[in-house]
Amino acid sequence: MPEYPDLNLYIGGAWRKTGQSLPVINPATEDVISEVPVARRQDLDDALEAAERGFRIWRATSPRVRAEVILRAAALMRERADEIAHSITLEHGKPLPQARMEVIRGCEFFEWDAGEAQRLYGRVVPSAPGIRYLVIQQPVGTVAAFSPWNFPMSQPARKIAGALAAGCSIIIKAAEETPAGALHIAKAFHDAGLPAGVLNLVFGVPAEISTYLIPQDQVRLVAFTGSTAVGIHLTEMAARTMTPVLMELGGHAPVIVCDDVDAQAAGLMSAARKARNAGQVCTSPTRFFVDQKIFAPYAAAFAERAAAVNIGNGMTPGVEMGPVANHRRIEAIDALVEDARAKGAKVLTGGARPNGPGYFYPVTVLAEVPDDARVMREEPFGPLAVINPTASLDEAIACANALPFGLAGYAFTHDAATADRLMNEVEVGNFSINTLEASVAEVPFGGVKASGQGREGGMEGMQHYLEVKTVSHRMELEHEPTVSGAKA
Ligand code: NAD
Repeated sequence: MPEYPDLNLYIGGAWRKTGQSLPVINPATEDVISEVPVARRQDLDDALEAAERGFRIWRATSPRVRAEVILRAAALMRERADEIAHSITLEHGKPLPQARMEVIRGCEFFEWDAGEAQRLYGRVVPSAPGIRYLVIQQPVGTVAAFSPWNFPMSQPARKIAGALAAGCSIIIKAAEETPAGALHIAKAFHDAGLPAGVLNLVFGVPAEISTYLIPQDQVRLVAFTGSTAVGIHLTEMAARTMTPVLMELGGHAPVIVCDDVDAQAAGLMSAARKARNAGQVCTSPTRFFVDQKIFAPYAAAFAERAAAVNIGNGMTPGVEMGPVANHRRIEAIDALVEDARAKGAKVLTGGARPNGPGYFYPVTVLAEVPDDARVMREEPFGPLAVINPTASLDEAIACANALPFGLAGYAFTHDAATADRLMNEVEVGNFSINTLEASVAEVPFGGVKASGQGREGGMEGMQHYLEVKTVSHRMELEHEPTVSGAKA
């Protein structure tokens, strides 16, 4: 059985403890499994200095060599996938096979961006004889990144992959509650020969670290994944120094289910996907707007499958859904369910916390939920789904677009004209038809409206880590006109 790793900060190519720490809790048992060091001011200053040095080395490293190092690290992570997955299940709670899938997905982010590193093309702009206009792309500098706890490995992977492929250095503050995923990434890069200072990993008090790092001169990009409220706060802070931001924020994904699909198959598939990662996914399908003609069989199949989800410790074979990752989620979901129930929603399944240790909550399906219920506006970020009937496509689109969020959206239909209309009119950054998968390495991912700014992955993801420089190059010294206007 692999061991949970010894947790350290990684600064300037070296591991360190700090004398202060926070407990890491297994959400399936509530046992303390480790202690994660808390960065002090001096550690952050060291990380800034190391990142400055790392940037000078890495920006001068050829894209091919950068790609080789990234691919070497990704290969090590693939070799260590079982060990990394084991740590993730211990600290996060998700079932081991899902943790393994997450690790492979994280590797895919690195592998894709390693390829992109070698395709950061510029342009030669047509010009008059004797002068050449070039548009080149250069790495922005040091990135301050903040990754959340829902995907302990693939969330930090996205940001580290983009930064390193572009030639930036990075200081990443990964989630204190689930630190091992990011730690394993740092170990793989250390072993793959990444120069010291290019990647620095810290943990600590999130607000203290962001408040200190973001205004620093050498921080040239703030990359954050988390809630909209925190994203807005960090964006305001970054604006004071005109530091650009990459923000992947909350969602509340709508799913429009049209009457031309197999209601039962769609219901079963929807419930299984809702259980994935215990619903703690920013793209998790949550608000289901179902054509009233198929509402009853769809809702019945959904509830039946949701009730059958095998919940337990993620280490146990056959478990489909682990606990939620922390106690805050239990309280938040419970409050949303109670509010909806009080306002007249039907609870088709779930809706009650089990006794005993562990942060377990069943997949909960609410139907015919009134618009004034909080869950219709607030992202549950847990195993909670809302299923409401709709009388027309117009109504379904209006419901889907009713919130300030716009991250992922989904539809089930086989009608090409309906699919085309939905694709155009649903206000999200990622729209998926007949699949509840929203994001893979090779396509851009990100939100519109309050769900964020910018994209990660695909060709577009690299743009945030680069800035454009225009070069005007005359082959001979330019002769300034004389006072009379004649050429000298
Ligand atoms: P939270 O809003 O306190 O924290 C969300 C994330 O932001 C955490 O990783 C946290 O460490 C970080 N954070 C908080 N304050 C920060 C600060 N001042 N500076 C830097 N980082 C900071 O809430 P939470 O209970 O941890 O998570 C719940 C909510 O967060 C969910 O409702 C969900 O909307 C959102 N969330 C979104 C994602 C995502 O993938 N978009 C992931 C995790 C959490």
